[in-house]
Amino acid sequence: MSTGVVEQDPTAPTPRVQPPSTGIKKADEIINLALAYGLTATVETTDRETLTNYLVRFTTPIPAAYAGTELGRTIAADTLVMLWTKANRKGARGRLEEATVCDAASSRKVRTVREVTASVESLGHSSMKYARDAAPLPGDVVDALHAVFLDGRKAHPGISAAHVRAIVNNRRFKGHLVHQDDDKAICIENRRYVPVTVTGPTPGDVVDAPHAVYDSHNDRHKDIAAADVRHMITLRREAGQSSDQSDDGTITAAGVRFVPQPAAGERQHDTANGDTPAGLHGTTPAPAPRPAAEVLAADPIPAGLSVLEGMPGRELTREELRTPAEVLAHTDYIVQIRDAGRWILPNHDDQADITRGDVAMVQRRILDNGHGRARTTLDTDGTVYVSDGRQAARYIPSALIARYTPAKCPGCHTLYTDNGDGPCTGGSSLPAKEPPADDTKTHSRSAEFATLPELPGAPSEWM
Ligand SMILES: [Zn+2]
Repeated sequence: MSTGVVEQDPTAPTPRVQPPSTGIKKADEIINLALAYGLTATVETTDRETLTNYLVRFTTPIPAAYAGTELGRTIAADTLVMLWTKANRKGARGRLEEATVCDAASSRKVRTVREVTASVESLGHSSMKYARDAAPLPGDVVDALHAVFLDGRKAHPGISAAHVRAIVNNRRFKGHLVHQDDDKAICIENRRYVPVTVTGPTPGDVVDAPHAVYDSHNDRHKDIAAADVRHMITLRREAGQSSDQSDDGTITAAGVRFVPQPAAGERQHDTANGDTPAGLHGTTPAPAPRPAAEVLAADPIPAGLSVLEGMPGRELTREELRTPAEVLAHTDYIVQIRDAGRWILPNHDDQADITRGDVAMVQRRILDNGHGRARTTLDTDGTVYVSDGRQAARYIPSALIARYTPAKCPGCHTLYTDNGDGPCTGGSSLPAKEPPADDTKTHSRSAEFATLPELPGAPSEWM
């Protein structure tokens, strides 16, 4: 979700019922003028035998801060009522019969459209002043992400304080009602922008040691460096999400546990699945090639985390990626893209094979366009991960795959010259302990991508 657009409020509610109108041009012009000032307008229509009455009433909305006060009662008394009639025959014109302007002390009749217009302007200016006097200042907005509720239902999380301040500023400028309630939420009509309190550890609370990762199924994944845990905590806090930390330093975020590990000397290697602890990046010898299906199926992203949050290995910088050969040890890679929590191969016509230079180019582009949110990491086995939170991909050194040849798809072992344009039937990872995907399902890539949390974009961007 993007935030920060001020002119077009993405959280604005859809327009409500039609504004009140009479169908009489002059009367409707006055109604629109009143609405522009933020006045409340109602139209009461009464059909008589030969003509129709339109009783139009303008009232001044009472700022919440003045409700029940003497000032509130004074404001409530500021009204203007006008009666228009129109004969029930074709081509008849509407006519102003009379209008009454009231305040707390008196009432007076006005006769002409010009006088009514002037009175509405006067009422409108007072209304704007009351609204401005009672409105919060942009500086009153809590310096935190806000979640917006429409009619009490949560509609959008993660709205920046700057965006809410801009909304407050716009309302003040227009002299329209806006108010801050006891929860410090900004309230506008049926919308409530509620500041979200993020609780739990800050990056500074993360224990300075590698952390073992246990997913929501309690399966252990590769250890990750403290720096990566800190980065994940930063991202979560920026998104308005809380985490927990227990006394032993274990952090729980979205059901995934990060358990600080003893120092390297005392540590027992978890060799059951052949994983190498991270934090030793660059020094680990390349693993022996393994069958393609095994390599393509492995997924170090803990269940419950996005690729952005869970990508393993050390962070690569934009600067480093300017000289790919110095940072990426391999010359040839296989791309897999993130699709509904799995890694899949691109369509056969896009081919999975990609050179080191192209991998680095894609990474640089994602970092450049990621609005500071994108990350790219280098895992200990040489695999490169990249995500901007919407789309993610990984690049596996083809040297990790036994008997790999660029002419053949590593997923189904058919020649690219023979296998047609469509998606590959193999070469995907499976989420941990999830039932296998329905093989009979027809994969239409573009349609499928539209529904994905982390990969809605055009896949060709990533090749
Ligand atoms: Zn294939």
